[in-house]
Amino acid sequence: MGKLDGRVVIVTGAARGQGEQEARLFREEGAEVVVADVLDEQGQGLAKEIGALYVHLDVGREEEWAAAVDAVVEAYGRVDGLVNNAGILRFNTLLDTPLDEFMQIVKVNQVGCFLGIKAVAPRMSDGGTIVNTASYTGVTGMAAVGAYAATKHAIVGLTRVAALELADRGIRVNAMCPGAIDTAMSNPDAAPEGATDALYRKLVPLGRIGRPEEVARLALFLTSEDSSYITGQPFVIDGGWLAGVSIV
Ligand code: NAD
Repeated sequence: MGKLDGRVVIVTGAARGQGEQEARLFREEGAEVVVADVLDEQGQGLAKEIGALYVHLDVGREEEWAAAVDAVVEAYGRVDGLVNNAGILRFNTLLDTPLDEFMQIVKVNQVGCFLGIKAVAPRMSDGGTIVNTASYTGVTGMAAVGAYAATKHAIVGLTRVAALELADRGIRVNAMCPGAIDTAMSNPDAAPEGATDALYRKLVPLGRIGRPEEVARLALFLTSEDSSYITGQPFVIDGGWLAGVSIV
């Protein structure tokens, strides 16, 4: 028996990275999975491989959410879970961040998450789950990612409010706060050979960057009955990075 047997779960930004691993794991655990992304070719390829439904969805566009949810309900007759995973990152100091760039990040990360809750929750079965992907930078600061960190803090706030507002239907809403995870976003390939390893050995108590499969296991926990009494909480998954600074 799988942990998600009989459930229908939408994962946004699932064409690659953490979302891809979430889609793969959820499928292995018995869910019908909806891979939603703007990377159509990659998303369709993954959906075909794992036996999922692909929908094109730009999470910042309300009309695309409506069409995506219609497609899911038409295909499976229900929706039980949502992982708001899609996100973008830009590096800039606050003083150098153009307004357009700030608003672009807000639109995908923060508005995308809000629209996901707004579009999916009314059609979701009672007892459903929503997992919002915030970040380590949703609970602490980091220079050069100010716009991103602002949206990730906002996602933690959205998570708490949605948990309160949806609790009467048994819908649980939680957030994941990953530290550095080895995906295209953190882009370790672009760094000189060995530099990334050395950086994370120094920064992270567990001495390495995280794997997207590890975040997928947290998403599974928060989407399954294993977390049945947990709602409204941010879950940090960072190899101990947030624990503090070591001087030894
Ligand atoms: P990634 O870049 O590999 O994946 C992001 C996915 O989101 C891609 O498939 C991309 O096409 C999709 N996407 C981007 N804009 C979209 C839009 N408008 N509509 C729909 N899909 C869109 O990076 P990842 O590490 O897998 O990121 C997943 C989530 O985890 C993001 O929310 C990110 O902010 C968060 N996160 C990542 C890290 C990290 O170190 N990689 C750390 C903390 C949090």
